[in-house]
Amino acid sequence: MIIIAVGSNLSGVWSDTPYGMCQEAVHRLSTELKCSIKQSSWYQTNPIPPSSQPLYVNGVIALTKEIEPIELLKTLNKLEAEAGRVRQQVNEARPLDLDILDVNAQIIEDSTRLIIPHPRLHLRGFVLYPLRDVCPHWKHPISHKSVDELIAGLPKDQEIVPYLDEK
Ligand code: ADP
Ligand code: MG
Repeated sequence: MIIIAVGSNLSGVWSDTPYGMCQEAVHRLSTELKCSIKQSSWYQTNPIPPSSQPLYVNGVIALTKEIEPIELLKTLNKLEAEAGRVRQQVNEARPLDLDILDVNAQIIEDSTRLIIPHPRLHLRGFVLYPLRDVCPHWKHPISHKSVDELIAGLPKDQEIVPYLDEK
């Protein structure tokens, strides 16, 4: 199982809302990888670290596919670029962020280019809550903690709220 975090807090090429960007990203990824995708609920979340950036929409998706992790990263980076993302600074607002959380419990540390499991996933409510939606029995490949245990260990400021699509 491949698990990917999806996030946006800006409009982009495909939509004038972050929610629309996330939905279109999932649709395009499914077409690109020729596989079906299981999708979490969507959540509205605060920027981390705290800032005056717009709120984020976040979710997590899961899929099964034979693909080298580095090829997957290239596919995700290509989609981010097509969505209109230009990288300038760390933690900047973005129309699309696609992070690989887990690839079949592999442990990969290719300097800073690709680290799996994602090194900060256990610290982020906006990753763990939607991860629990799609894979409630998931365990961290290194710590072997369950997603429930990881959520229980989150700092207090990591609560998130469901995204309510009002359009
Ligand atoms: P962030 O998602 O942390 O806000 P970026 O999306 O700009 O930051 O990613 C920065 C770099 O992180 C990417 O260019 C990519 O090479 C690297 N990276 C390392 N591990 C991963 C991973 N598991 N998933 C996605 N990108 C990763
Ligand atoms: Mg990223």
